[in-house]
Amino acid sequence: MTNLFDLTGRVAIVTGGNGGIGLGMARGLAQAGAAVAIVGRDAAKSGAAVAGLQQNGVNAISVIADVTDKAAVDRMVARTQREFGRVDILVNNAGINIRKAPHALAPEEWDSVIRTNLTSAFLCSQAVHPAMKQAGGGKIINIGSMMSIFGASFAPAYAASKGGIVQFTRSCAVAWAADNIQVNAILPGWIDTDLTKRARAEIDGLHDRVLARTPAARWGAIDDFAGIAVFLASRASDFVTGTAIPVDGGYSVMG
Ligand code: NDP
Repeated sequence: MTNLFDLTGRVAIVTGGNGGIGLGMARGLAQAGAAVAIVGRDAAKSGAAVAGLQQNGVNAISVIADVTDKAAVDRMVARTQREFGRVDILVNNAGINIRKAPHALAPEEWDSVIRTNLTSAFLCSQAVHPAMKQAGGGKIINIGSMMSIFGASFAPAYAASKGGIVQFTRSCAVAWAADNIQVNAILPGWIDTDLTKRARAEIDGLHDRVLARTPAARWGAIDDFAGIAVFLASRASDFVTGTAIPVDGGYSVMG
C-alpha cells in the first residue's frame, strides 16, 4: 500500500530551521524521508542543527541567509537546487518579536518585525515558485501564531505580521492552485522555545497564565510540529489549501 505521508526523494527548505519550531518541523520532514536545507543567520547554531540531523542519517545542509534580503533568498534557493536538484517544500518559519505597546514601538522596529515575519514569506515563496511550477507541484507552509487571531497589546507589529501571514497564505493558495502548489498556515499556541523563554523572563506570570488557559494544560514542545509539517508537506494534504490550522493544545477554542 502507498504511504501517503512518505517524503522520500523530496527536498525541503526550512527557514529558521536551526532551532525551535523550525527544527521540530525539519526533524519531522526528515523522518518522513525528505532532504532538508536548514536556513538561518547564525552559522554555529545552524551547523549544530545540521550535525544533529546528519547523525540520524538525514541528508541535510546549512544555508546561511537573511530571509529579509531578496538577493540572499534567491541564493538560498539556487544553493538548495544545486545541492539537491529540486525544491518541493518551503516552510516559512523564521520570525522575531519586539515586545512594546503600539505607542512605544519605533518605525524601524515595526519594519524589522514585518520584514522578518511577513515580507520574508513573500520573498521566499516567490523565489521557489518557478521550481515548484516546473516540477508540477509543491507545498508551502507558513507559520502564523495565536496573534493571527487575537490582538496583543504588547506586540502590534508581530500580530499584524501574523494576521498578514494568513491572508498571504490564502492569496497564494488561490493563485497557485492551478500549479498544484498547496499553501497552508500553521498557527502555533504557546511553545517552549528561545523566543518564548525571553517572553517568560520579561512578562510576569506568563508561564502560569498560558497553562491555565490551555486545555491540554501544558506548553507545546517543538516535536508537536513534526506531524502537522509532514501532513502539509505530503500527498496526504493534496486537497487541503489556504487553511490556517491551530496547533495549540486547544488554546484558541478555550471559552
Ligand atoms: P526561535 O527564536 O527559536 O527561532 C526563530 C528562528 O528564526 C531562528 O532559527 C532564527 O535563526 C530565525 N531567524 C530570525 N530572523 C531571521 C532572518 N532575518 N533570517 C533568517 N532566519 C531568521 O523561535 P520559535 O521557534 O519560537 O519561532 C519560530 C516561528 O514560530 C516564528 O515565526 C514565530 O513567530 C512562530 N511562533 C512561535 C510561537 C512560540 O510560542 N514559540 C507561537 C506562535 C508562533 P538565526 O538566529 O540563525 O537567524
